[in-house]
Amino acid sequence: MKPFIRIVYLFFRRVVYDATLGSTFFVAAVLLMFFCLYEAASAASFHLVRWVDDGDTVVLADGRRVRYIGINAPEVAHENRPAERFGPEAGDFNRKLVYKKKVRLEFGPEKHDQYGRVLAYVFLQDNTFVNAELIKAGYAFYVFRRPNTKYDSLLLRLQQEAMAKRLGMWAGFLDQKGPFLGNRHSRRFHRMTCPFGKATAFKHRNIFKAKYDAFWAGYSPCKRCNP
Ligand SMILES: [Zn+2]
Repeated sequence: MKPFIRIVYLFFRRVVYDATLGSTFFVAAVLLMFFCLYEAASAASFHLVRWVDDGDTVVLADGRRVRYIGINAPEVAHENRPAERFGPEAGDFNRKLVYKKKVRLEFGPEKHDQYGRVLAYVFLQDNTFVNAELIKAGYAFYVFRRPNTKYDSLLLRLQQEAMAKRLGMWAGFLDQKGPFLGNRHSRRFHRMTCPFGKATAFKHRNIFKAKYDAFWAGYSPCKRCNP
């Protein structure tokens, strides 16, 4: 090879080599950056559960109190109030599910309730949907509340399955003959004597013969008249 051509050849080989090496490093650096960002993002989106209040409320390591959306678990005992039927079991079930575990929160349009609690759909790291698990096992019933309704059809379907299988609170469910006054708009049901029930617009009224039927249709009991 003539010296001139050889110099040109070496020059180009060097350029091509550097470019290859450079782009390899560049690609590696970009991949590393994405990996770090991904790790940081996924680590940040999981939170340790520090405390379990009951079947539908937990406290995170960062101090936030989280109330599960779309469900209501029977109450555990409080200072001046005895536990509701299946309250302690619901609390234990929730504890086994999430205590000292890391959870991811998904929010609806409304992020807090009137008590300042965070409203969330809660998922474990293996993607287990905690709200749904409680309903599925019969340790909580489905509660409709606008505007957080994303998983409502799933939750109601799981409740109907738990009811049909008589799981948890549905085993030996103390059904009461009504009638009960359902409100199609709020999806709450009342005793016929409840003043809040009586305020229901006629077009929203839906009468249930028994409590079980109201639950089956996705209505939850009024907190005031406690049917
Ligand atoms: Zn009522």
